[in-house]
Amino acid sequence: MRKVHAKILVVYYFHHRSFAFSKRYHQRAPLSGGPSETTAVSSLNAKVLILNQSYEPISVCSAKKALMLLFLTKAEMVEQHTSKVIRTVRSNYPFPSVIRLCAYLRVPFRKIELSRKNIFRRDGMRCQYCGTQHPPLTVDHVIPRSRGGGDTWENLTTACIRCNNRKGNRTPDEAEMRLLVLPKKPHHVLFLKHNLGKVDDTWRPYLFMD
Ligand SMILES: [Zn+2]
Repeated sequence: MRKVHAKILVVYYFHHRSFAFSKRYHQRAPLSGGPSETTAVSSLNAKVLILNQSYEPISVCSAKKALMLLFLTKAEMVEQHTSKVIRTVRSNYPFPSVIRLCAYLRVPFRKIELSRKNIFRRDGMRCQYCGTQHPPLTVDHVIPRSRGGGDTWENLTTACIRCNNRKGNRTPDEAEMRLLVLPKKPHHVLFLKHNLGKVDDTWRPYLFMD
């Protein structure tokens, strides 16, 4: 029932520009004066980063949905836009940029497929021996297949053709070629970042980019 109530309030806000926020949001939110930019309804489609209770980034949603979660006290504001506000008849409210769920959500992240494309992505399209980003890039078995090396995240890495040929059928130690980064199974955040498009500056600390 509470959810239905909240939906009605949000709809009411969009049509009448008057929005009764939850007490919690209301208490921490009001800004007097603040930036003069009026929040257009379309900007409520702006992306907001959602963090799990553990601060792990899990997804993005629209500002509209973020407001709903804040209103229902299912999330709390972590970061807000300093140049935008939600303007209502009575007051201005912070525009969410990053929110955090109040309860831990078990997220069944899709298994990241072990593929050539995803290995390149994980390695930043960079040869892990010499650092070049010049194509063509290849996938190298760190421990060669003929020596028992498997097709695993930990044994596959990105190499330019030159390095791959130079290394040949040897281990990095034998070839005296050090890996820039030891290959490992990628975290889902890496792929979340790829799917986000433009990353807001306020999101960066939560996406482990700093
Ligand atoms: Zn190379």
